[in-house]
Amino acid sequence: MADPTMPHVLDTYTRLPVAFTHGRGCRVWDADGREYLDALAGIAVNTLGHAHPTLVSALQDQVGRLIHVSNYYQSPLQEALAARLCALSGLEAVFFCNSGLEANEATIKLARKFGRDRGVANPKIVVFEHAFHGRSLATLSATASPRIHAGFEPLVPGFVRVPLEDVDALRALDDPEIVAVFLETIQGEGGIRPASAPHLRALRELCDVRGWLLLLDEVQCGIGRTGDWFAWQASGVVPDVMALAKGLGSGVPVGAVAVGPRAMGVLGRGNHGTTFGGNALAMRAGLVTLAVVEEEGLLANASARGAELAELLRAAFVGMAGVVEVRGRGLMVGVELDRPCGELAQRALEAGLLVSVTADRVIRLLPPLVVSAQEVEEIVRRLVPVVSKFLHPAA
Ligand code: PLP
Repeated sequence: MADPTMPHVLDTYTRLPVAFTHGRGCRVWDADGREYLDALAGIAVNTLGHAHPTLVSALQDQVGRLIHVSNYYQSPLQEALAARLCALSGLEAVFFCNSGLEANEATIKLARKFGRDRGVANPKIVVFEHAFHGRSLATLSATASPRIHAGFEPLVPGFVRVPLEDVDALRALDDPEIVAVFLETIQGEGGIRPASAPHLRALRELCDVRGWLLLLDEVQCGIGRTGDWFAWQASGVVPDVMALAKGLGSGVPVGAVAVGPRAMGVLGRGNHGTTFGGNALAMRAGLVTLAVVEEEGLLANASARGAELAELLRAAFVGMAGVVEVRGRGLMVGVELDRPCGELAQRALEAGLLVSVTADRVIRLLPPLVVSAQEVEEIVRRLVPVVSKFLHPAA
């Protein structure tokens, strides 16, 4: 049944019964003045939390100057943000768009063109079980979930799916039409599943030997969330293409595709574009987000608070019947239960905590990078009774 409070909005989401009016740091408030602790950050978007004063004043300034002029003209702000992303990643150039699926769509187009430029008639991309890359036709086809595919067939062809962490399955692929391997460095929607460093290194090696591109989707795990600017940096593996979005603009929609030397020159003039991509407001948001992450030491904060969060969750949950595992990296943490637990998002909300449940049975915590040690404790204090009551109602 459609949400009776939103009869004119197409009913494509299952929404919780609350509307927020404002936020500050890691807290948001509803119209009744009730306060909630935000351990979701708009699904890994609000890097700087809510209403960060530096971001607010920069955006106010930018809105008063220029929001958008199109890509018919030069953009010093695009160049500045692209240069910053290149310096942080070691990659060479950036294409800007507006969302995660757009960054991945551009990544897929780039891989196809890379193949076509080399005479491959029907280029194929290796993708993984449990993957989530977005909901456009190409990105949903790269996504693993049959639920996300359902009703939108025929899928876009050209994807070959393999199990996670199984390099032998990849090595066994003997298809000259394969041109790239595409994965999330840490799967988000798939249930917070990090690719191991040895796996990433083996993929890099295989890509080098076979002449494939290594494409990393850092839409959810990138921009400092894991304690590194990009999650792949912990492995020492450098991708040929990296897709970014979510946390880059701290809430202002922005996506980016950064490419390294092997992928340079594949997309040229006229090959790809977007009206809004790289607009001045989004670029300013990205520049300020990166600057504040640096100035406030938020990479170190993500590592330290993330370690505390995982430790407190393990102390509370490991050994509790019904809890399978606590896993993740930095401020990207999942608690896997042995049963579907979608209703926990609502129960946590009632306890004043914003979290989500993904892959049916994984409670997902993605707090803003500005979260404090005290707030980490508070997150766990609010979450644990909710989960233990769900698992053991009679206790
Ligand atoms: N890729 C990953 C890893 C994601 O987690 C998401 C969104 O959750 C996307 C792509 C799609 O991003 P968007 O919702 O901005 O299109």
